[in-house]
Amino acid sequence: MSAAYRNDLLAPFLALPQGEKVQAEYVWIDGDGGLRSKTTTVSKKVTDIGQLRIWDFDGSSTNQAPGDDSDVYLRPAAIFKDPFRGGDNILVLAETYNNDGTPNKTNYRHHAHKTMEAAKEHEPWFGLEQEYTLFDADGSPYGWPKGGFPGPQGPYYCGAGTGKVFARDLIEAHYRACLYAGVNISGINAEVMPSQWEFQVGPCEGISMGDHLWIARYLLVRVAEQWGVKVSFHPKPLPGDWNGAGCHSNYSTKEMRVEGGMKHIEAAIEKLSKRHDEHIAVYGDDNELRLTGRHETGHIGAFSSGVANRGASIRVPRHVAAQGYGYMEDRRPASNIDPYRVTDILVETTLLDK
Ligand code: ADP
Ligand code: MN
Ligand code: MN
Ligand code: MN
Ligand code: MN
Repeated sequence: MSAAYRNDLLAPFLALPQGEKVQAEYVWIDGDGGLRSKTTTVSKKVTDIGQLRIWDFDGSSTNQAPGDDSDVYLRPAAIFKDPFRGGDNILVLAETYNNDGTPNKTNYRHHAHKTMEAAKEHEPWFGLEQEYTLFDADGSPYGWPKGGFPGPQGPYYCGAGTGKVFARDLIEAHYRACLYAGVNISGINAEVMPSQWEFQVGPCEGISMGDHLWIARYLLVRVAEQWGVKVSFHPKPLPGDWNGAGCHSNYSTKEMRVEGGMKHIEAAIEKLSKRHDEHIAVYGDDNELRLTGRHETGHIGAFSSGVANRGASIRVPRHVAAQGYGYMEDRRPASNIDPYRVTDILVETTLLDK
């Protein structure tokens, strides 16, 4: 078991002046969809991403390259403020490239960026609802009775009060860390299963959706590290009568967001209905354990849609149907998706007629 994070001992050191120099924490997605990061010192405050160097790392240690050709490049893609170090220190979300210049196998941003450029006249917006579950360092669900179970689902969703809500301190810390960093976080709520939570990010346009969601996840696992808590993005973290975890993907185009938008929403749903399997293929591993047709999901084997229907693949929110324009919600994506893949295929299917 690792020692607890000693913020009390660390605080005076973090308060020391650091001169002109700033710390840049490069964050990237590893070969298994996990997050990695390492730090470099930069000579002065960074005002433009072009001031940051292309860096590299040992891809043989992250399942991203063979040992005899292990250097993988980190190309800065987006900058956020660093809530852990504060000041002018930054987080640098980086894309990974192989030494021959091709994108690394888990660099889905590369292709998504091209898709977003091709469709940018339609101004695609996304809002992702990231559900996740907290576990103790020993692997048991956070706050659950050791070796036992809490009472059945019911009082926990958006709950308040002892025994109904777990880890609110950690969740509050993450929310504020996101705001400080510049992540476009739009809300949080406690979920149906105890110790399951959700944060929403968006609306974000184009490629920035994936950038903001990945950094929000990074901040969550870093904050949870200080609590000695593990974060699971698995879509069915516990078997049985407990809700799974999804990443509902809300989506609109410029045309859907104005009067008469409903016909564009309907046309998009029609196109989505014809590519259900292609979408499911990139909507997360183990998603079949979650999309059972129960626990507020549609069945993985069939496409469906409906107004205010939480048992459908695509839900049109009631207020959208009432006003006649707005956005749709794709409820199929699992909590462990790569948001670049999901936003990419939504745009390809609905706007680029793939
Ligand atoms: P739910 O009722 O499904 O729980 P939430 O309130 O959790 O919905 O999330 C709704 C999401 O929809 C938010 O992330 C928000 O940013 C996003 N959203 C709102 N308007 C739009 C829009 N026009 N296009 C895309 N996403 C949107
Ligand atoms: Mn070394
Ligand atoms: Mn939600
Ligand atoms: Mn939810
Ligand atoms: Mn939702």
